[in-house]
Amino acid sequence: MAFPPAFLDELTARNPIEDVVGQYVTLKRSGANMFGLCPFHGEKTASFSVAPDKGIYYCFGCHKGGSVINFQMEIEGLSYPDAVRALAKRAGMEVPEDEQYQSRYRQQERLWALHKEAARFFHSQLYAPVGAEALNYALGRGMNKYILTTFGVGYAPESWDGLVNALRKKGYTDQELRDSGLVSVSRKNGNLYDRFRDRLMFPIIDVRGNVIAFGGRIIKKDSEAAKYLNSPETLIFNKRKNLFGLNLAKKTKHPYFILVEGNIDVVALHQYGFDNAVASLGTSLTEEQAALLSKYTDQVVLIYDGDNAGQNATKRAIPILEKAGIQVKVLQLRDAKDPDEFLKKFGADRFKLLLEESSNRVEYQLNAILKKYDLRDDDQKVKYLQESAELICTLSSSVQREVYSGRVAETAKISMEAMKMEVGRAFKRRIAREKRKQEKIDLAPAQNRQPQNHKIRYNNVHSAMAEEMVLALCLRESALLDHTSGLKPEMFSSELLGKVFSQLTSRHRSGLEVSLGGLTDFTPEEMSHIAGILHRQNGPVNEQALQDCIRTILDENQSAKVVTDDDLLERQRRMKQRKGIKA
Ligand SMILES: [Zn+2]
Repeated sequence: MAFPPAFLDELTARNPIEDVVGQYVTLKRSGANMFGLCPFHGEKTASFSVAPDKGIYYCFGCHKGGSVINFQMEIEGLSYPDAVRALAKRAGMEVPEDEQYQSRYRQQERLWALHKEAARFFHSQLYAPVGAEALNYALGRGMNKYILTTFGVGYAPESWDGLVNALRKKGYTDQELRDSGLVSVSRKNGNLYDRFRDRLMFPIIDVRGNVIAFGGRIIKKDSEAAKYLNSPETLIFNKRKNLFGLNLAKKTKHPYFILVEGNIDVVALHQYGFDNAVASLGTSLTEEQAALLSKYTDQVVLIYDGDNAGQNATKRAIPILEKAGIQVKVLQLRDAKDPDEFLKKFGADRFKLLLEESSNRVEYQLNAILKKYDLRDDDQKVKYLQESAELICTLSSSVQREVYSGRVAETAKISMEAMKMEVGRAFKRRIAREKRKQEKIDLAPAQNRQPQNHKIRYNNVHSAMAEEMVLALCLRESALLDHTSGLKPEMFSSELLGKVFSQLTSRHRSGLEVSLGGLTDFTPEEMSHIAGILHRQNGPVNEQALQDCIRTILDENQSAKVVTDDDLLERQRRMKQRKGIKA
């Protein structure tokens, strides 16, 4: 039976791969990944890895890999549908009858489209005469037009039926309007009226780019209405599971996220260049939100308001974030009640300084190393020194190396000289390692880059490397699929990779989660191969890298010509001739 895509997304989300694998394998975290002994082949050193952020497992020994569903199939020897049923049971989910789920999914799609339409309406009102006051308010609070567009900020006019009429005109039924949470029903006569009136509107957008709700802020000072109003919970909006600004912040290059209280703080921070800011949605931080954050970062700087409520919220948030595997730093703002005010008073540079003080990456990594060892034990102390030295030798500034060497020496109660020597040795080891790695890459002929699995062949290895990269990039950042126009599945030199690309593209277009778990119709060997690809790619995710790969594929596709073994022999013969060697 074919399971509905939305159901499979939820199934994957509610069965974190590290938890499911963790029932069979003892996993230890190392960086972003977790390692353990492979359950599929006998081994003494851990070459089995799980990447929670990517939702995959992969074994470097036997090259098995895939999504959480593949793992369940493999470990229990189950068919695909039975593995899905087992996971559904594990997460307490009902396996839906096809028809019922399809209709629920269609309903979701209508609500996403309705919200997009509503966002357009609000945005247009902000620039209409009726929105003049609201626009002035926004500009007066320091938001520029660029940032208003980036966040899709809009204005809900004071009328009672502006939005209701706009949406009816677009063909949405009264039932759909009610389901959206954007309208209320009059108790007197049952008429529908706009829920948000005379408010600056902030669309709440999920990580897939769907508008799922709105937050509205009053603009009149003397208004008696609540200062902030959010959409109620609907079929598509669960405030416990979403974060304001995450759709933008997930693309940041900063290694950490900034978590603040208000939507306006997020907008202000992004405007000043801190594109890593997000806010919880008018609730105190939930476990679901922390889990969502941990998919994108392992460090968070908390900046809540300085008042009592803010301080209490901070105290509650810390253990929740730590439980999700996130390192937390708290930033106390002096002389300003929130980041918005701080940025206006003191500017971005002062703020950056504060952030650097609070989220010092080296320091926290050294602390993490320290926590692993008991320094009273001599062997462990040596390991602590070695591992710290490995980290310190990667620092580019000599001042930093000196400072941190000093700190480690002090902690371990050894001399500064001894620590310096340790760092020197680590540095030499690192250089040697990198040299060996480069030599390996230089020496590897194209043949060796053929897949391990002999059932899978690449017709054009050069193009296939670029194709692998395209898939890995899009799997890690689905928004990149908006920038692959011109690339067609049939241009891929490997049928398998082309098929993956085509499925990812169509999932993305229908607003589904783009992940390995959503792929269908692949053999376990093929899934292992795809997981391996995703596992190997860890470089920066950006559009430039994507465009470079696409160009390579298009070029190779242009000059595509089947090169047979005979061709190769012929080429070899000619080359030898040129060099004066007799064939
Ligand atoms: Zn294995």
